[in-house]
Amino acid sequence: MARYTGAVCRLCRRSGDKLMLKGSRCLGPKCAMEKRAKPPGQQSIGRRRRVSDRGFQLREKQKARYTYGIMERQFRQLFAQAEKQAGITGGNLLVLLERRLDNVVYRLGLADSRSQARQIVLHGHIMLNGRKTTIPSCLVKEGDTISWREGSTKTEYYQELIKGIAAKSLPSWLGLDTQKLVGQVLSLPTPDEIEAKFEGKTIVEYYSR
Ligand code: SF4
Repeated sequence: MARYTGAVCRLCRRSGDKLMLKGSRCLGPKCAMEKRAKPPGQQSIGRRRRVSDRGFQLREKQKARYTYGIMERQFRQLFAQAEKQAGITGGNLLVLLERRLDNVVYRLGLADSRSQARQIVLHGHIMLNGRKTTIPSCLVKEGDTISWREGSTKTEYYQELIKGIAAKSLPSWLGLDTQKLVGQVLSLPTPDEIEAKFEGKTIVEYYSR
């Protein structure tokens, strides 16, 4: 299935929430949600549609997909995996999404957005436990290390990154050597540790019908 290649700010406007898909631009005045938060195509002022329960569930599910940049089929597969695990499915799903390699590269501060992290992984710049990995959907485990391929440390991007990395904040479940830009998964995150703009419980309700 084709990946969404349209304007990502439309996805925020459609979701009615800032999904932070464009890195630092999302924090500035150029953010489309700061300028006009109406859903695309909804032009008339004051017109509001009542959202049904089903519509709300769909919106939460789409927010999760857009946030992590995942197509429906892959998202559905992750949901099925979350259902098979012990515990609460919504929380399991959130943890599985966070464990994706592209998300971990983003959370470590090695990329400005998840889509940029995806590109960095796809282009072969990242090593997982010392081996080059080009699969953004690969799930990390506790104790895994994430580092740069030696050739990639000579790029301008890497040099700029290393200068500003100390100022970036990290989630508690990840560690980073800021001198060498080597990250480590200290533990798997718990659902409470994950900052999310959607509710896992509502996504479970969506798929349970
Ligand atoms: Fe969403 Fe970021 Fe675009 Fe704002 S700038 S609408 S937060 S993707």
